[in-house]
Amino acid sequence: MKALGLDVLVEAGAGLASRILDADYEAAGARIVGPEEAKAADVVLKVRRPTTAEISTYKPGAIVIATMDPYGNEAAIAEMAKAGLTAFAMELMPRITRAQSMDILSSQANLAGYQAVIDAAYEFDRAMPMMMTAAGTVPAAKVFVMGAGVAGLQAIATARRLGAAVSATDVRPAAKEQVASLGAKFIAVEDDEFKAAETAGGYAKEMSKEYQAKQAALVADHIAKQDIVITTALIPGRPAPRLVTRQMLSAMKTGSVAVDLAVERGGNIEGSEAGKVVEVEGVKVIGYLNVPGRIAASASALYAKNLFTFLETMVDKETKSVSVNAEDELVKATMLTHGGSVVHPNFGGAAV
Ligand code: NAD
Repeated sequence: MKALGLDVLVEAGAGLASRILDADYEAAGARIVGPEEAKAADVVLKVRRPTTAEISTYKPGAIVIATMDPYGNEAAIAEMAKAGLTAFAMELMPRITRAQSMDILSSQANLAGYQAVIDAAYEFDRAMPMMMTAAGTVPAAKVFVMGAGVAGLQAIATARRLGAAVSATDVRPAAKEQVASLGAKFIAVEDDEFKAAETAGGYAKEMSKEYQAKQAALVADHIAKQDIVITTALIPGRPAPRLVTRQMLSAMKTGSVAVDLAVERGGNIEGSEAGKVVEVEGVKVIGYLNVPGRIAASASALYAKNLFTFLETMVDKETKSVSVNAEDELVKATMLTHGGSVVHPNFGGAAV
């Protein structure tokens, strides 16, 4: 940002959890300030959506770029509009080649998928790889990954690296080949609905009750033989699909482990609790929140790059000023509020 000619203010202590000291920011040319100095900023870059108190410290017309979690939070979006902010939701970035380096869902889900396996391994009371020793053989752990998008694929790769025997499921046909290419077994109900389950944006559709019933029957049999289940299934703008019931958990061996990465969106696993590790039917169910934040230094490094590449598209290199081009497809997809109104059509706005 300094190289682009921008002045940079950093909130004191902002990087401590990622092992970046205030002195490091100063050495890079930033000025360390208290939260009240946010008033001076034309652009505010954040991790999460600003709170009411934070909004009151921003100047009208300021651009705010963050993870806004917009679905179901229309009142908070309206509040940003009322404060005159131009707010951008990074998670609405279109998944097109030009925006790949701005894709926070991918950068963070990838880390969450990795960390889910590490968390599961920690709670599991056996080794993951097969070990043949003079004192006997430890069998490879059986890991089942449900939802093979960005997080799921990284979970598969990580579990494979640890030596587990891995299987996975998804409702999108494209996932089949990707799962196989990582050396895991693909398990799914592959009917006509499955063949049409991917939206133009590359996401999953919400499946019919009939499909869900067929999927549950298939999964119930398979899950009973697993040691670790990792669920990552999401549908944009909808609650997470319920994939694992208490009954399925009760069929697993005591001491098995389940990780619910979808817990923030209602959970894929019955009984999972946000922010906790709980025991459900003898299975340890992990429901940590903000899983990428458990490897904060890596999460920060990737998220910062995502924010920077997006901001860079708004910087005029001649005048060193920041301006929003409402015709840009990235702006159209991510801008929630502008000029005192909600502008995003998905959240009640008439697009500018
Ligand atoms: P996501 O986080 O929205 O969902 C995670 C996974 O859950 C998805 O694979 C989804 O199909 C699956 N799922 C949903 N409902 C399910 C159900 N009932 N049962 C089982 N699985 C279910 O998805 P994501 O990880 O963000 O990725 C979605 C797709 O987008 C992937 O194919 C990914 O490779 C692709 N992608 C493309 C780009 C790009 O082209 N720039 C970037 C990132 C991701």
